[in-house]
Amino acid sequence: MPRDPRFDILFEPVKIGPVTARNRFYQVPHCSGMGYRYPNAEAHLRGMKAEGGWAVVSTQEAEIHPTSDLTPANEARLWDEGDMPALSAVTARIHDHGSLAAIQLVHNGLHVANRFSRMIPLAPSHAVSDSLDPVQARAMDKADIADMRRWYRNAALRARKAGFDIVYLYAGHDMSVLQHFLSRRHNDRSDEYGGSFENRLRLFREIMEDTREAIGDTCALAVRLAVDELMGPAGITSEGEGKDIIAALAELPDLWDVNLSDWSNDSQTARFSEEGYQEPYIRFVKSVTTKPVVGVGRYTSPDSMVRVVRQGVLDFIGAARPSIADPYLPKKIEEGRIDDIRECIGCNICASGDNTNVPMRCTQNPTIGEEWRKGWHPEIIASMPAPEPALIIGGGPAGLEAARALSQRGVDVVLAEGSGEWGGRVARECRLPGLATWGRVRDWRIGQLSTKVNAELYLHSPLSAEDVLQYGIPHVAIATGASWRCDGVGRTHRRPLEFLAEGALVSPDALLAEGAQAVSERGPVVVFDDDSFYMGSVLAELLAKAGRLVTFVTPEPQVSPWSKNTLEQGRVQKRLIDLGVEIIPAMSLAGRTKDRLDLACVYSGKIRSIDCDTLVPVTARLPDETLWRDLKAREADWADAGIKTVVRLGDCLAPGLIAAAVYSGHQYARTYQQQVDSDRVPFLREDIATLQDLPSS
Ligand code: ADP
Ligand code: SF4
Repeated sequence: MPRDPRFDILFEPVKIGPVTARNRFYQVPHCSGMGYRYPNAEAHLRGMKAEGGWAVVSTQEAEIHPTSDLTPANEARLWDEGDMPALSAVTARIHDHGSLAAIQLVHNGLHVANRFSRMIPLAPSHAVSDSLDPVQARAMDKADIADMRRWYRNAALRARKAGFDIVYLYAGHDMSVLQHFLSRRHNDRSDEYGGSFENRLRLFREIMEDTREAIGDTCALAVRLAVDELMGPAGITSEGEGKDIIAALAELPDLWDVNLSDWSNDSQTARFSEEGYQEPYIRFVKSVTTKPVVGVGRYTSPDSMVRVVRQGVLDFIGAARPSIADPYLPKKIEEGRIDDIRECIGCNICASGDNTNVPMRCTQNPTIGEEWRKGWHPEIIASMPAPEPALIIGGGPAGLEAARALSQRGVDVVLAEGSGEWGGRVARECRLPGLATWGRVRDWRIGQLSTKVNAELYLHSPLSAEDVLQYGIPHVAIATGASWRCDGVGRTHRRPLEFLAEGALVSPDALLAEGAQAVSERGPVVVFDDDSFYMGSVLAELLAKAGRLVTFVTPEPQVSPWSKNTLEQGRVQKRLIDLGVEIIPAMSLAGRTKDRLDLACVYSGKIRSIDCDTLVPVTARLPDETLWRDLKAREADWADAGIKTVVRLGDCLAPGLIAAAVYSGHQYARTYQQQVDSDRVPFLREDIATLQDLPSS
């Protein structure tokens, strides 16, 4: 289909200093968890973005010196020449597809603990490292400043040599020495690098000039700047020094990339923000510079993209997450395939990969991070010459993705869902406060399946083992999901707690099905969260918003600790506080009567008793495996019925993240009708490959 002319503006070329971007789609620097330790994975990831039409594709932050050592995080590195091959591989793959390659140079200042290099972190003034390690950064003297300038210059020279078209200086996320010098919070120097605004700006300005000189006139200079730290007068604000910095340096770089700081403010989840949430803070930038401006805000709608360009907010549509969920987003707009866009749901499972030091994964895009090690392409799956048909049971994320990807391969698929709606858990969870976008996991897959002539979709079709045998479809995948358990078993309590039944118990599933009305209005409701991710807090939010008196009890020291990895923990805790939810941390369950609950301190065992009319235990789930067990019991009948394989997918195999269920369905389709050798590592490993290059002793 031809491109809709109303999107033409998104495909205009834009000059960035000496280089020209072929359109306005710009993949801003983002972490991938595949930095210097997985260079092949990183190069293939970035190359895929270029293939998908992003005119500029950036690396993640690239540490310029061993005094900037983010280990165990796995970012890009440019410490010396040894890092060049990995980065040259990145630029080569980006250039293969006609895009510009950008690198984000960083010295992380007081943000690092230098756990690997064991060098002392550097900062404008003596300061505790913000890594939580018992480490302090030392105040830089003039010799250190000269070193820092030289390190940046060396890194810029290497970046140019590695083939980058755009070299970034990074003063964002409170993670960079350049921002630390700018910040009154971190800089209390009394020399010409501290005090007045001009003095705090000095190092940044000098390094900009040095970098410009180093990269010459074939490479563009970009600046990534935090224009607001959302701290009011304690930090940089878009009405105050954020604006002043851009006004003072307005024409020095070739491009301004502007955003919110810290990372949790920049990459807000859909639970806490709408598409375009940064606009109020970055709108001013184009009024103080003539240089092109890029910004982000989880833009997935081409109409919103056109609007921000037409309104003069941005010149480039910056994206990290939308480019992860759909590396082909620009191409799909260009080819008039808007309905094919796999929209980011704003869940930040991608960020959790970086935060747990592993290659990123994505709820919507199961192929991300698998481009090299599994050879997975986000848009292409080899079609099968004469595949046998498949029956998929369960229309949640796992079943939908399995059916979608199989139908793409040319397999005749029957997808049977027992209930009256598609989506399984996402259909229920997207009705919870703030999670509406999660419905996109279902919507995109149903949209794709509805265009396939080889996919038959049936709602209201709860299948029994007898039904499956009667259909006689050779390959059966059971994706019947999981249910929340109500016996208290989870991480803290490994054996069932019989006393829970002494009073009213409401399972998370009942709340998911019926909403807050599943809980009586009588007395206080206690949410006991031993799951530690989003479900406990979001159910507490649902109940509090419905006017229930809610107490949130957790064995952990804070609410939803795993949501630190999705950059949400602070917002989650604040939301519960704002809603008047009483939070009782560090407590397990010890006993119960009809209207009281005994809690035990997880450290001392000391008992405390609280009012509790209804208890909602959010602890763990159990697979819904009745159908699997019934079919296994009749395995002797499979061959006569024409059934060759039966497998379990997603939560029915082991309850986990939605991302894991989607991945499970996708994996099934990729390996359909293949004998999987479980003795073999199912992906390429680059660390081993590297060692194999060494001479054997
Ligand atoms: P997953 O995350 O693994 O996809 P979900 O719980 O989201 O799991 O989805 C499982 C789906 O399977 C639910 O929509 C449920 O209604 C459906 N289901 C469960 N048992 C059967 C069955 N016997 N026949 C058809 N559908 C079923
Ligand atoms: Fe978007 Fe979630 Fe994928 Fe990240 S993991 S890109 S937030 S859908």
